[in-house]
Amino acid sequence: MEKVEIGFIGGTGLYDSSMIDNVSEMEVDTEYGSPSDVFNVGLMNGRKVAFLARHGRGHTIPPHEINFKANITGFAKIGVNRLIACCAVGSLKEDYKPGDIVIPDQFVDWKKNSTTFYNTGNVRHVSLADPFCSEIRNALIATCKDLGIACHTKGTYVCVEGPRFSTRAESLMFRNFGDIIGMTGIPEAVLAREKEMCLGILATVTDYDVWADKPVTFDEIKKTMKENNEKVKKIIKQVVNNIPNERNCICKDALKSA
Ligand SMILES: [Zn+2]
Repeated sequence: MEKVEIGFIGGTGLYDSSMIDNVSEMEVDTEYGSPSDVFNVGLMNGRKVAFLARHGRGHTIPPHEINFKANITGFAKIGVNRLIACCAVGSLKEDYKPGDIVIPDQFVDWKKNSTTFYNTGNVRHVSLADPFCSEIRNALIATCKDLGIACHTKGTYVCVEGPRFSTRAESLMFRNFGDIIGMTGIPEAVLAREKEMCLGILATVTDYDVWADKPVTFDEIKKTMKENNEKVKKIIKQVVNNIPNERNCICKDALKSA
């Protein structure tokens, strides 16, 4: 089987099979259990890609129950070493507006349990000083520029446990060190680095978190998400052209100094 090069992790409805040529479904099993769903594998601009619905295609898996280890291992098993994680996030800062695209460069992990492939026996401590792949980040930023889509080229992603949203006090605290807030991006980034895979986050802001005291209706959030997804689809289609064939980033040697 020809190796898949590039993987996309995203929410339901973000990608349809029309984005991929010669699409087929691939079921992958891993030593950590089953990934969230089957992988949709096919060609995009001549490069082999795979898509995975993070919450399952029916959006049935809540953030705290996602089997992140199985998802990342599944991608690794089909050959993927570049990942783009599409995440809907809340905003912690006034100038990260609903509808904005963010390519974060840092994160703060506020999850209760840290996710790692190195629990027992073979203890390793990978560096995450620069937690996201510079090549994937640059490819995403260049693609937004090519398409004339404004994006924040930096931002700190605060990752919380979920599925509940923050209290007002928590949200005000997170504002001191974060720009955007979500529930899924960080286990994926950590596990990818532990597998020496490249990962970048393509985040879309759906609303202001509760600190702003700007209540929005579910209909408004749905409208913003729909518009965001259209932008994300455009970016996904183009970004594969901007990812270099050879990897020249720190990710591929992450375990050498761990
Ligand atoms: Zn990399």
